Amino acid sequence: MVIHDIIIVGAGLAGMRAAIEGIKANLNVAIVSKVHPIRSHSVAAQGGINAALKKEDSWEDHAFDTIKGSDYLGDQDVIEILCKEAPQNILELERMGAVFSRDDNGAIAQRPFGALSFPRTCFAADRTGHTLLHVMYEQILKSGVWIYDEWVVVSFVVEEGICRGVICMNLFSGKLHRLHAKAVVLATGGYGRVYRHSTNALINTGDGMALALKAGARLMDMEFVQFHPTTLKNTGILVTEGARGEGGYLINSKGERFMSKYAPNALELASRDVVSRAEQTEINEGRGIDGSVLLDLRHLGEEKIAERLPQIRQLSIDFEGIDPVESPIPVKPGAHYSMGGIEVDLNCKTNIEGLYAAGECACFSVHGANRLGGNSLLDTIVFGRRAGIAVSEYVSSTELKPFPEDSALLEAGHRVAIILNRRKGEKVSVLRDELAGIMNEKAGVFRDETGLKEALNKVYEIKDRYKNVVIEDKSDMFNTELQSVFELGSIITLAETIVLGALNRRESRGAHFRLDYDKRNDEEWLKHSIFFIKDGEIKIDYKDVTITRFQPTERKY
Ligand SMILES: Cc1cc2nc3c(=O)[nH]c(=O)nc-3n(C[C@H](O)[C@H](O)[C@H](O)COP(=O)(O)OP(=O)(O)OC[C@H]3O[C@@H](n4cnc5c(N)ncnc54)[C@H](O)[C@@H]3O)c2cc1C
Repeated sequence: MVIHDIIIVGAGLAGMRAAIEGIKANLNVAIVSKVHPIRSHSVAAQGGINAALKKEDSWEDHAFDTIKGSDYLGDQDVIEILCKEAPQNILELERMGAVFSRDDNGAIAQRPFGALSFPRTCFAADRTGHTLLHVMYEQILKSGVWIYDEWVVVSFVVEEGICRGVICMNLFSGKLHRLHAKAVVLATGGYGRVYRHSTNALINTGDGMALALKAGARLMDMEFVQFHPTTLKNTGILVTEGARGEGGYLINSKGERFMSKYAPNALELASRDVVSRAEQTEINEGRGIDGSVLLDLRHLGEEKIAERLPQIRQLSIDFEGIDPVESPIPVKPGAHYSMGGIEVDLNCKTNIEGLYAAGECACFSVHGANRLGGNSLLDTIVFGRRAGIAVSEYVSSTELKPFPEDSALLEAGHRVAIILNRRKGEKVSVLRDELAGIMNEKAGVFRDETGLKEALNKVYEIKDRYKNVVIEDKSDMFNTELQSVFELGSIITLAETIVLGALNRRESRGAHFRLDYDKRNDEEWLKHSIFFIKDGEIKIDYKDVTITRFQPTERKY
């Protein structure tokens, strides 16, 4: 058995940023990732990262925009931390080597983004995540962090309420291993792939959240799923909000710039939930084009598109057969971001001793009911760093607790053997597609009681059929079909929390829109949903939202 001080699960921006703090504290740090670090979904981030850098801007304005964007569900004490610490974190990234796009004076350029009252989004063309993830990986290589890449974590080991490590499968050999540590940090990213039409990488199945819930951690605000308004019609590939920030606009089949009806002031740069609902309404009422609307960039001209949005142009050509210099791009809303996640405190601690979480898999909550574009990359950096500092302090003052005999390893081995030996049953792909389809239809941009009940029945049905899932590949090496069984298990658990949360919450707030309760109801619902397992079932409780300086008011754009 291998022993480390800290095991970090996830090699995206949050995981790697946390690891750097562990190394600074002279600790033995390991990162486990189911893909090579630079294939983590952070690499796909396009538009940018927010910080109030200019003297005309302020962290207070950034905080207010974030709180308003969250539809007042965000906890204001954590939002203050996010916005106050943003500028120093951006400068630190630059010193590590991140090459941000510049303005005419040579300073870091900042573009307008959705629901921001000031152009506050720093960027590296439309490849911001790519730039940042590669810089972070260089730091990791330099520091000597131990990396287990292409290792899949299949369970967390918690004994007497303390996390002792993880069980993982080495994809190369197919062998199961125990990794023992004083503490574990989860940085496993989001669960966009619970839905059929999504901007997320295929690996984004929310494993960390589902495993944490099973190990006794609590999840928070799972019903809030962000749909991004501009994803390519046929594939769900993202077209950054930066395209609208640079001046792109949306039109319907009649050529109307329809956002003037829905958000007369902010237009295309209203918050994402507002723009997604506007698009879906246009499509549902017959003013779409083959299930989509159009994003027009033609007036920006070839030179600006080449400088600011080169990747968007290439993706549109490669995946939609459309050159945005010449024609508008067909787009529609797609599942993009999980506002909910593992409940953590200001120092990224979960309710299990020795278990921490940061990045998209965690919920503080800084994004409340709707995240602002550019705030998630910031969240990974600010809270990845804080998680690293907090876990290093914990580890430095605690003894290594024994790893429970072989029981966890045996249990995982038993599960694998059962799956490999089963001869008859249903395929993962069939179950996954059926579930993703109903989640898109009934638990997507618009929801109501009838649809959500249908979705819940489907979740229960798939959960039952999952017990008989069968795989054709019985080999050891790179058995990705076996991996997909574990991932489907995570998807089913998370789908259940999303639908249960959405069914219970009888109001509309941020990304959660109920056609049968179409108003926000602060009196009854200004509270977070908390999910936990009791007697083998997922239960929901509620807790208050932290309000420091901004009282809830009606949100208008
Ligand atoms: C296309 C796209 C564009 C985006 N653009 C922006 C943007 O411009 N600005 C912005 O602020 N936000 C953006 N976002 C959101 C933002 O990029 C993500 O929220 C953020 O990068 C998540 O980082 P993370 O470190 O939490 O997780 P990720 O980068 O998703 O990394 C997750 C890690 O966990 C590992 N992992 C997961 N499960 C397991 C397991 N079972 N075993 C082992 N390892 C596991 C994976 O291998 C991976 O290394 C975008 C998102 C997408 C999808």
